[in-house]
Amino acid sequence: MSVNQQAHAGPPYGQPQPGYQGYQQPAYGGQSLPGVPQSQYGAYNGPMPGYQQPVPPQGSLRAPPTSGAPPPASGASHPSGHLAYSQFEHGDVQNGIPASAAPMQRPPAPQPFLPGSAPTPVSQISTFQQYGPPPGSVQQLRNHMAGMTIGGTAASAPPPAGLGYGVAPSSYPPTTGAPRPPAMPGPPLPGQTVPAPPSSQPNHVSSPPPPPPPSTMAGLHPGPPMSGLHGPPPPTHPPQPGYQMQQNGSFGQMRGPQPNYGGAYPGAPNYGSPPGPPPPPKRLDPDSIPSPQLNELPPQQKPRHRIDPDAIPSPIQVIEDDRNNRGSEPFVTGVRGQVPPLVTTNFLVKDQGNASPRYIRCTSYNIPCTSDMAKQSQVPLAAVIKPLAALPPEETLPYLVDHGESGPVRCNRCKAYMCPFMQFIEGGRRFQCCFCSCVTEVPPHYFQHLDHTGKRVDYYDRPELSLGSYEFLATVDYCKNNKFPSPPAFIFMIDVSYNAVKSGLVRLICEELKSLLDYLPREGNMEESAIRVGFVTYNKVLHFYNVKSSLAQPQMMVVSDVADMFVPLLDGFLVNVNESRTVIASLLDQIPEMFADTRETETVFAPVIQAGLEALKAAECAGKLFIFHTSLPIAEAPGKLKNRDDRKLINTDKEKTLFQPQTSFYNNLAKDCVAQGCCVDLFLFPNQYLDVATLGVVPYQTGGSIYKYAYFQLETDQYRFLNDLRRDVQKEVGFDAVMRVRTSTGIRATDFFGAFYMSNTTDVEMAGLDCDKTITVEFKHDDKLSEDSGALLQCALLYTSCAGQRRLRIHNLSLNCCTQLADLYRNCETDTLINYLAKYAYRGVLSSPVKTVRDALINQCAQILACYRKNCASPSSAGQLILPECMKLLPVYLNCVLKSDVLQPGPEATTDDRAYIRQLVTSMDVAETNVFFYPRLLPLTKADVDSDSLPAAIRNSEERLSKGDIYLLENGLNIFVWVGVSVQQSLIQNLFGVSSFSQISNALSTLPVLENPFSKKVRSIVDMLQGQRSRYMKLIIVKQEDKLEMLFKHFLVEDKSLSGGASYVDFLCHMHKEIRQLLS
Ligand SMILES: [Zn+2]
Repeated sequence: MSVNQQAHAGPPYGQPQPGYQGYQQPAYGGQSLPGVPQSQYGAYNGPMPGYQQPVPPQGSLRAPPTSGAPPPASGASHPSGHLAYSQFEHGDVQNGIPASAAPMQRPPAPQPFLPGSAPTPVSQISTFQQYGPPPGSVQQLRNHMAGMTIGGTAASAPPPAGLGYGVAPSSYPPTTGAPRPPAMPGPPLPGQTVPAPPSSQPNHVSSPPPPPPPSTMAGLHPGPPMSGLHGPPPPTHPPQPGYQMQQNGSFGQMRGPQPNYGGAYPGAPNYGSPPGPPPPPKRLDPDSIPSPQLNELPPQQKPRHRIDPDAIPSPIQVIEDDRNNRGSEPFVTGVRGQVPPLVTTNFLVKDQGNASPRYIRCTSYNIPCTSDMAKQSQVPLAAVIKPLAALPPEETLPYLVDHGESGPVRCNRCKAYMCPFMQFIEGGRRFQCCFCSCVTEVPPHYFQHLDHTGKRVDYYDRPELSLGSYEFLATVDYCKNNKFPSPPAFIFMIDVSYNAVKSGLVRLICEELKSLLDYLPREGNMEESAIRVGFVTYNKVLHFYNVKSSLAQPQMMVVSDVADMFVPLLDGFLVNVNESRTVIASLLDQIPEMFADTRETETVFAPVIQAGLEALKAAECAGKLFIFHTSLPIAEAPGKLKNRDDRKLINTDKEKTLFQPQTSFYNNLAKDCVAQGCCVDLFLFPNQYLDVATLGVVPYQTGGSIYKYAYFQLETDQYRFLNDLRRDVQKEVGFDAVMRVRTSTGIRATDFFGAFYMSNTTDVEMAGLDCDKTITVEFKHDDKLSEDSGALLQCALLYTSCAGQRRLRIHNLSLNCCTQLADLYRNCETDTLINYLAKYAYRGVLSSPVKTVRDALINQCAQILACYRKNCASPSSAGQLILPECMKLLPVYLNCVLKSDVLQPGPEATTDDRAYIRQLVTSMDVAETNVFFYPRLLPLTKADVDSDSLPAAIRNSEERLSKGDIYLLENGLNIFVWVGVSVQQSLIQNLFGVSSFSQISNALSTLPVLENPFSKKVRSIVDMLQGQRSRYMKLIIVKQEDKLEMLFKHFLVEDKSLSGGASYVDFLCHMHKEIRQLLS
């Protein structure tokens, strides 16, 4: 019996584990700026209770040096003889095949949607066995598949009680993380509140309309009825009639007059009022407004009978059910192949041997054993990995393990790191690798006896033997040039051209930096941040500043030869904030004055990045550039750009050029930046096209972030910008990072999506990687898998911490494997699937016409669902649409992806908006893509002002809105507050402080702070939502029938969009047709 044959029975959550003493938890941003949601940092605020006993560590565990300087290298003999810089040196073996001999076949993007590459024979078989209970029987599955007939031929059974939307009186806890600590006192922020803890108090929920009387139906498509799966606890009898198609209008008791489904949208009745002006208002915030539209999809069969929207799978219901079923118990990770709760469910995680879903989520937790099965199902096998994810305060950060000069214990062959799945043999003297089966000697210092079950007796004392996620302190072998890194530097580079100065931006940035510099990321219990800072301003030329502490005043040095950028000073450019405090303050006071009268309108861009890069090179450190930029760089300089925006290219074969950079100059620059560990964060303030597709190349490939504030206005936008800046500066970030994903024999990582650079087929390189960034990895078979062994992933991230400490963060995840397709479909996660599909499609637009990409998406999903129908569903009429329980939302979510601005731009989406969104989505985690594609819509007027809970969300459709209510819609980038025309005057008074609907100003960028329960409640909801998102959302007030309503309606993603994007119902019909064609 070996350790690997035991289910992980980890120690009780939260209790001290002997042997972890002295492992200090890294702390980041132990302080927080006022106004910045602290939730992301809460967990980093100090040592973990229970692990800090001053007992000397036993065995080979040692406390890390507090200085951040690991033990000196004594020409250490690396066990494997490897002394190269990376964990991934040449000669490494992946899955038993020498990397150099068998390079990964990285297919050019985009690839066909068929998973394709020929399997490579690999003979090693990993030997651990299945954890946990075996998958349920086929019969259980069948029980899950009680479909409901939507078609007209069905009996007229009403929908089962409790399945309608909005019925469950459950609480609506925050979706991510737990209650946030209150922010520190400081500059007044409207509505600063503590987000609500979960509560069981029922919300005000509009009751669903009673089941409408059955109506005679002719069906969607000539004849065939549709059926779908729906609802929570599956009935234990065979498919039964349930959701009836209804004539439109038969379900509308609760709602106002409805738009004519399927009719001409713009002219549809608009709550009984005349339709609003058709064209979108001028200058809507082009920041990220997806605007679905549809030109060719689906082939509409215009006049036809309608399906009751309540009868098709509801995202709200699925989310609600998962919360109710899985929100109360912690998710314990000891069992292989467990599907975690949805990202919309608030839950705690106990690490008992597998990485938390906050770090890794998979499209399926049960992988087909063979490549043929995988191809047949068309279900992509992918993991969405967020290696440095922030955790809620209740959860434990990965422990830092120090093996001293010998470094982490690794498999001799594939170099996998010691993990809970390695199997110790021969009394503990050797271990067999769970990834490649190679047997490796246990180094003497790491030897430990095994107990009678084959487990090492120090099993619970060692994070790397009992936990899914942990860190190793890296030795000098893992450092560039075999030298421990210096602490990183931050360089602030401010555009001081005319527009930047005139808008007040330069002054705003300088004012903010004066206080923000005190909140640079810190590590552990360090007194101050180790990060040094530097300052550059620029227009057509660059100005460097010497802010050495010994100077009385800062000194400026101008570099006007931008063709060959160099840094004119070394000493005094990068400084410690505390030492140079007065000089820095003086500089930040002077900059706005110095350029107050500038007439320079032209800017350079590439030389700015080059300057930052050269400065970091000279200082021999990694770091981050914060560039604040306003315009297309047309000044004569390397990387100069021209305005090549051309909307006429939309829907042509040349549309892809809008997403491609106009010069390869920036790709080469990005490569240099990555080599130096120079990460670029770009804050854009455009008043016109500035070519985000090109300017974004370096931020994107260095693992940085892009923020865009179109038509920036100080009054309305400064708050959002400052919040983003504060969070961006303070958040946890690793530098000079390399990530590799190892897999057990049979599958391998073949494709990667995200903000990074790759110089080979396996190593994901990032100059910087922050806590919000994800990398999506796709896997393909190269051999058969076995149900017994399952499949394993190990993600290893080598990075430099904010204090300059070199570390390895390891995440392990074990998955099940199946020989029955039903097991695959039963263990899928649609939210993750959509994350992958969106990223795949968004990359596809770089090389294929957008229509081709859309068609491929539809086709792949139809194949996924057709395969289920053919192989897993119980026999029934071909006219029935039967969806797998875990994928019943695939059609509605897929439709949202298809209607998004990147794939089908609305009239107001600019080329820059589309490029911006494309890049944003590529780094999003599953929770972010979920709310981005299917926004959250909350009826504010139903909120219980006495409780901490949120009102129950409703579906994104106009017919769900009542003109007597106020709603909030958020998608992670924007928050809309929609006010119906008939809202009670008292509510308007309480929320907006004005006496009538007509007086509400939609120029508001925040809600007024009013002392009444409704105002407080709404502001607390807004603050809670802001705290859950990685970017500060723009608040937009929308009055019903006002111009801006058109913008808002783009987000009602279940409806037909203004420009023709399919409604959910229509799209479902279309999918059904596609599936039937595949089956026939
Ligand atoms: Zn190995």
